[in-house]
Amino acid sequence: MNNMSENLEQIAKENKIVVRDLMKVYRRGTKEVIALRGIDFEVKPREFLSIVGPSGSGKSTLLKLLGALDKPTAGVVLYDGHNVTLLDDFRSIIYRRRQVGFVWQTGNLVPGLSALKNVKLPMKLAGTSGQAADERARTLLETMGLENRIQHKPHQLSGGENQRVAICVALANKPELLLADEVTGELDTETTEMVMEALKRINTDFETTIINVTHNPRVAQYASRVLRIRDGLIEGQRHVLYGDITEIDAKGRMVIPETVRRLAGIEKRVVLKVTAQGLLVGPLEYEEQEQHSRSQDDQDTET
Ligand code: ADP
Repeated sequence: MNNMSENLEQIAKENKIVVRDLMKVYRRGTKEVIALRGIDFEVKPREFLSIVGPSGSGKSTLLKLLGALDKPTAGVVLYDGHNVTLLDDFRSIIYRRRQVGFVWQTGNLVPGLSALKNVKLPMKLAGTSGQAADERARTLLETMGLENRIQHKPHQLSGGENQRVAICVALANKPELLLADEVTGELDTETTEMVMEALKRINTDFETTIINVTHNPRVAQYASRVLRIRDGLIEGQRHVLYGDITEIDAKGRMVIPETVRRLAGIEKRVVLKVTAQGLLVGPLEYEEQEQHSRSQDDQDTET
């Protein structure tokens, strides 16, 4: 991966999602956390993918970037060939509303509304007519085996039932992509199986592409493919071009990794120059040479 000569356009045509060099650095004051260190992967249309990894490995961060809920520090996320990392706030909302459904561990439902009203709500916001929304909400709830629970409010439902209602809410506007983050995190084994079976059914019946994040390897097995993430990198994947990443430190300075310095034959401190060809990175002598030739020019014009 991370091969500069790869045909990204062709890869984007064959995949629903293409992720390249994705990196996320969180900053709090002078403290930095590198949550994603430059990762690459693809998701096929109608695929059911699990992303598994220990707590703190960057799973939720990745899901937020896929759903355009946050911006990466570097890298691209192509959805149907469009780079969602470049969307402005308004277009991000449109992308989320039209293409993506989200299910989180908790907090997906409005407490005061019945299951039926919860599922109808996103359709109402998207401008679907009352009757069409009602019909679709009932169908979705039936598909999830909740036909006898439609008038119940979240506090009258079990954890598993609430999560199945939440899945219906996420599917209300017929998203092509469903992003699920630890949806079974607080459920017992039996209820977990029920919810995961429901996700599998959605994947096959509605042809929804699903990306399910979990720290539980057993839950991950419900998917057709499992991607393992650890310390912000996909396991077994190395960044062959750099071997390491270029970090920006808390003062906004770029820290060039040793591997790049050796490859490029540069010292720890470098000169960056904006040219018509792009950004040039050069050794310090460039600057000295430049200064020298500038003072030569000045002398030439003076004489
Ligand atoms: P996971 O979902 O695998 O548990 P996360 O993506 O939530 O991992 O977090 C990855 C790393 O980024 C962790 O070290 C976490 O503390 C840090 N992190 C996540 N969100 C933020 C944030 N908003 N601000 C600062 N650090 C964050």
